[in-house]
Amino acid sequence: MGLARRCVLCAAGKGESTLEFQTLCIHGGSKKYDVTGAVSVPIFQSATFAHPGVGESTGYDYSRQQNPTREHLEALLAGLENGTDALAFSSGMAAVSLAMELFAPGDHIIASDDIYGGTHRLFFHLSAKNGVTFSLVNTSDPARVEAAVTPRTKAVFVETPTNPMMQVTDIAAVARVTRAQGLLLLVDNTFLTPYFQKPLDLGADIVIHSGTKYLGGHNDTLSGFLVVRDPALAGRLRFLHKTVGACLSPFESWLLIRSIKTLSVRMERQQESALRVARWLRTRPEVEAVHYPGLPDHPQYEISRRQTRGSGAMLSFATDTAETAERILRAVRVIQYAESLGGAESLITYPMLQTHADIPEAEREAKGITNRLLRLSVGLEAAEDLIADLERAVTSGPDGGDRVKT
Ligand SMILES: *Cc1c(COP(=O)(O)O)cnc(C)c1O
Repeated sequence: MGLARRCVLCAAGKGESTLEFQTLCIHGGSKKYDVTGAVSVPIFQSATFAHPGVGESTGYDYSRQQNPTREHLEALLAGLENGTDALAFSSGMAAVSLAMELFAPGDHIIASDDIYGGTHRLFFHLSAKNGVTFSLVNTSDPARVEAAVTPRTKAVFVETPTNPMMQVTDIAAVARVTRAQGLLLLVDNTFLTPYFQKPLDLGADIVIHSGTKYLGGHNDTLSGFLVVRDPALAGRLRFLHKTVGACLSPFESWLLIRSIKTLSVRMERQQESALRVARWLRTRPEVEAVHYPGLPDHPQYEISRRQTRGSGAMLSFATDTAETAERILRAVRVIQYAESLGGAESLITYPMLQTHADIPEAEREAKGITNRLLRLSVGLEAAEDLIADLERAVTSGPDGGDRVKT
């Protein structure tokens, strides 16, 4: 068992934990499947596993509980996040929903006031029905988090940077509050991935991912993850995972393993292009504000630099009028007007009508999610082509066609 992996590690002269991140993206994982030397992880397309004898098991019984392909992916991601265990789900929302199963009626959770729309819907429509209450606060101010703690508070749920306003929360500062008060700290790390940010190292207890985004990276697969360090918490989550059953299939686990091999290369290139696009947007008279943590005038630029290795490739911007925003959406050609983010294909969204449509209007407007705000996920196309596409769109006629000069 594990011959191929041992050779890689011997050649590097290192234990797995000391390998560089980009090497781990390729060679991390459980390798428990590895009896043939297969360089690509096999897809164990089996729902169940035969027992060698009474009371005996190969280590696998039934794929809802564990499957060798998924196990490899989970070990891979646990290693990348510096966790001890990771659980793979059929979507990001399945992962967040499962985390909510840790709480009981009467429990109170403090959450970032600019969270993903689906998470907001889960909290206020399902978890609230189950007797869990929420306070939404601006978690980029740790004092507000501390002030919101009540005797019933059990956890703090943070997204950083937030979607779509790109607000950054100081994870270590919030972790000091949660540690002192005995609360769980959950951090949604979808936007930056462990390549740029490792919340467990900063004091978080549970890291959440929509693997549909950068980890999957190709806009073709839904998936989600929870990653933890504490073995007792991992045990509780494992019990819930096998009980609820929203686990990732063997084939989709394999797609994720394949994608993660290129995670570091994709993140670097997408970030480089995002910074170029952000800088270009700032020069445009039709653009009033650009929200990107990699710009030095971003309000949490210093915190972002301190706790991350990079700012990622998500940005949002406010146009001068709603007409300009709609014109851009109609006229872009290389960039596609579609939900989701993090993939090779650049995507633009209108948060007001899409991801945040279920959030009450007053709450949405107060956060800056207006009819002039667009969110852009910068993909792997050439930055020049993305900028040219936006330039053409922003100067196009009202119907999205090229403006006729008179
Ligand atoms: C997309 C997303 C989710 C939900 O993930 P799905 O894979 O779409 O279920 C959760 N959090 C963030 C930050 C996201 O972007």
